[in-house]
Amino acid sequence: PSSSSPLLKVDRLAKSFGGVRALDGIDFALAPGELVGLIGPNGSGKTTAFNIVTGVLKPSSGRILFEGAEVTGNRPETNAALGMARTFQNIRLFNDLPVIDNVMVGLHRKRGPGFLATVLGLPAARRSEAAIRVRATEVLGILGLKKRAGERVGSLPYGDQRKVEFARALASEPTLLLLDEPTAGMNPYETADLGATIERLHRELGITTLLVEHDMKMVMGICQRLVVINQGRMLAEGTPAEIRADARVVEAYLGH
Ligand code: ADP
Repeated sequence: PSSSSPLLKVDRLAKSFGGVRALDGIDFALAPGELVGLIGPNGSGKTTAFNIVTGVLKPSSGRILFEGAEVTGNRPETNAALGMARTFQNIRLFNDLPVIDNVMVGLHRKRGPGFLATVLGLPAARRSEAAIRVRATEVLGILGLKKRAGERVGSLPYGDQRKVEFARALASEPTLLLLDEPTAGMNPYETADLGATIERLHRELGITTLLVEHDMKMVMGICQRLVVINQGRMLAEGTPAEIRADARVVEAYLGH
């Protein structure tokens, strides 16, 4: 694909759960390098859309294109191998393992032998171990967590655990970073701090990022472009200034 073609394209996406039409004609695209927020009131279909893009759910109809190729219905592992990295709404870390090991999991998955093989110290795993550790340490440095590399991840404050999740996603050097409501369960201070981190990662690494988020204020403050959905349909699309001035968006949010 040429540099002007989108990295990710979501095309007429629809999804029904039994009789519930969760998505009905969602269309949006991310150009390489963009930071885009997908927002909408509770129950608007954000999580469903995110799960279809990552491969957790299959759509009822519509297509997902990644780097110009159709990835609709791919398994999450396949999409990860293609260069999509995601974080989870509920943090999924190995609480009893050190921070650095949690980051290294992402690297083993991508190009090394299995994580378990490494934990068990199997010979084939040892070769790439040092290189993986160096890369994981670098990524922790970017997130300001190098000093905590040896600490049990479960002992870190919640906001830092979220950053470890980001580090794990970034360590795989993804082409597309997908963040699923990263401020879920955070206080306003942690939310602002995390927003600043996402904005800085995007600015410094130039990584294309789709941020699904309920916190309007945070998304408005850091995203270049917003896609707003409501009741499974496209409601608006534009810059934060355009969205803020859109009466339909204001009404949709106030109605909830
Ligand atoms: P959001 O993430 O914006 O809060 P969701 O994608 O979670 O919205 O939900 C969109 C709609 O789809 C809601 O009406 C929700 O109840 C429904 N829904 C989501 N997942 C399921 C499911 N697994 N089974 C039935 N209905 C679902």
